Amino acid sequence: MYKLLHFGRSCKAYLRLYGERAPEIKLCCEKCGRSFHKHGRYYRSFTTKCSFHQIPIYRLYCPECKDTVSLLPDFLVPWARVATWVREAAMTRKLLGFSFKQVRNTTTTPAVRYSRSTLRRWWKRHLRTASSVALWIAGQLISTGIHEDLLRTYPSHVVARPVDTLRWLQQLLPLYTPSHPWRQGYWAWLNSRLPGPNLL
Ligand SMILES: [Zn+2]
Repeated sequence: MYKLLHFGRSCKAYLRLYGERAPEIKLCCEKCGRSFHKHGRYYRSFTTKCSFHQIPIYRLYCPECKDTVSLLPDFLVPWARVATWVREAAMTRKLLGFSFKQVRNTTTTPAVRYSRSTLRRWWKRHLRTASSVALWIAGQLISTGIHEDLLRTYPSHVVARPVDTLRWLQQLLPLYTPSHPWRQGYWAWLNSRLPGPNLL
């Protein structure tokens, strides 16, 4: 199991704070309610736009359920070896009409370049998960009292294609995510809040 949490604005900040010691956070097991114990760490590698990084990932353990939880910083997801803000930039450019080759060449440098097949996999996944994420955000906006007719902002009223849902998601993201000058994209912040397995 894993849990995404905000552990600093960047990889550099994360390493400064948690490069040598575990974060002091109190979390309880969702199954039994007991407090988790610290349970060591492992190293995980990933890339940003131009460099390769390795950071410690800390783990927690429930003595009752014997479950282990990995605490991921919000700029990573369990299934990608690339920082979330790079994937977000890539998917945003693809949606704007860039070719896979153009996307790849403008979001990474040759030193850390991911393959075009990786990009295709991200795109397929993004098309698949966008609708559940968009609906979840719409629900959150409605529950916080936004009265705008959010469904009316859906780009196509004739035939709904997956790419229309992506465009809708693009419109919803800035409505829901508070903006900060240092924030790199919307996805990292959002991923630490999304329920269930469908992360961006
Ligand atoms: Zn437990």
